[in-house]
Amino acid sequence: MRELKFYSDNAVPLEMHKVRVVQKLNLLPIDERLRAINEAGNNTFLLRNKDTFLDMLTDSGVNAMSDIQLSAMMIADDSYAGSATFSKLESKLQELFGTKYVLPAHQGRACEHILAKVFIKNGDIVPTNYHFTTTKAHIGLQGGKVLEVHYPEALIVESDNPFKGNMSPELLKKVIVEYGASRISFVRMEAGTNLIGGQPFSLANLKEIYSICKHHGLLLVLDASLLSDNLYFIKVREPAYKEVDLRKITREIADHADIIYFSARKLGHARGGGICTNNTELYMKMRELVPLYEGFLTYGGMSVREMEAITVGLEETMDEDMINQGPLFIEYMVNELKQRGVPVVTPAGGLGCHLNAMKFVPHIPQSEYPAGALGAALFIASGIRGMERGTLSEERETDGKEHYSNMELLRLALPRRVFTLSQIKYAIDRITWLYENRDLIGGLKFTEEPKVLRFFMGRLTPVSDWQEKLVTKFKKDLGNSL
Ligand SMILES: *Cc1c(COP(=O)(O)O)cnc(C)c1O
Repeated sequence: MRELKFYSDNAVPLEMHKVRVVQKLNLLPIDERLRAINEAGNNTFLLRNKDTFLDMLTDSGVNAMSDIQLSAMMIADDSYAGSATFSKLESKLQELFGTKYVLPAHQGRACEHILAKVFIKNGDIVPTNYHFTTTKAHIGLQGGKVLEVHYPEALIVESDNPFKGNMSPELLKKVIVEYGASRISFVRMEAGTNLIGGQPFSLANLKEIYSICKHHGLLLVLDASLLSDNLYFIKVREPAYKEVDLRKITREIADHADIIYFSARKLGHARGGGICTNNTELYMKMRELVPLYEGFLTYGGMSVREMEAITVGLEETMDEDMINQGPLFIEYMVNELKQRGVPVVTPAGGLGCHLNAMKFVPHIPQSEYPAGALGAALFIASGIRGMERGTLSEERETDGKEHYSNMELLRLALPRRVFTLSQIKYAIDRITWLYENRDLIGGLKFTEEPKVLRFFMGRLTPVSDWQEKLVTKFKKDLGNSL
């Protein structure tokens, strides 16, 4: 592990790249931010990017690309079948994961669609260290159900457990006895567990889970979308791997999965996805669906330019100075907020800083979407757009009852290598102001509620005039400041 010490000041995260292409940002005055969020139905997904100052919605498809990635895109080999660009991507994945077969798909959820179609039978279950929204939806559409098989620690928002993404081996064994192996389509491990705050699993845990799977003849499917963060955390938090090369860690992870799939909107920081395996029979089953839903086997819905960029991005993921950028800046943000008393998910994970809405706005009941309300309030206070990861992101039960989420988080994603330290400091400042004025924040209610993945397109309205009051207070405290 590489360490950087500061001589005369407290350590800050250091950008290990220089900025050579920039995009101008726009910071709207607060009245216009209020208008914009209401036009967006108080749903940050429906905001226009031109009205947004810092776009912390997601790390998906918005990570900064390197000069080497951009130049590789210029030499892409455009052909429907047998593209040399695909062969390059295939070779890189074979090299890193040691897997023989690569199936391309247009993004992560497309891989999940194929996996669900091939492996899920009606009434099946999928034990997972924690579900992801699109995974759960695809498994559900095929009549399957995900079962969360984590330690209680996973849901403890403020913790110092370095591996909250671990699966509980004891619980998995119980689940296998209870349901029987024949009802289990596969066991799913997610690297950098997204919905609980980008929390990693340890390699020791993955190995243990894999050996249980093998003992019962079960497949282990790895969602490697957030692998780069998980790799970094294994390196810095798992003592046995402190001195082990990233390539070796990657290989060891891959050796303990039967199928690996990923969103290249995150892993490889471009846009696309893929499924890798060494198992010929599994490969043949999944292969059939790729031309049907994605595109021919040598592009799978991706542009050749993106495939070139992914190949380079995967190689760059083997560089500690690259994969440390997300986690180091997130850690800085989390620690600064914590010092100011703001409730955040700890330990700092990958992909973003997560505000704990349950504690930030404890006066808002879950039926009024505290994390969604906090997201709207933060946009008004700062022009920063986050993403609700709480009850709004859940679906209603079949009887129409709300399914209250275990956690109510507002995720502030830090797309890799995009924001500078001063922008992070601005975010910390505005979040601190909002925290000190948290009593003013009120709840939201739906005016338009889609049935499937409602958080993407649903529209909401404040339950009172709390937003106007928040704007008045902001002006009182910060004068004519934006
Ligand atoms: C983003 C993500 C997905 C879905 O990938 P898309 O490319 O957005 O479809 C799946 N799993 C995890 C863990 C993710 O973070």
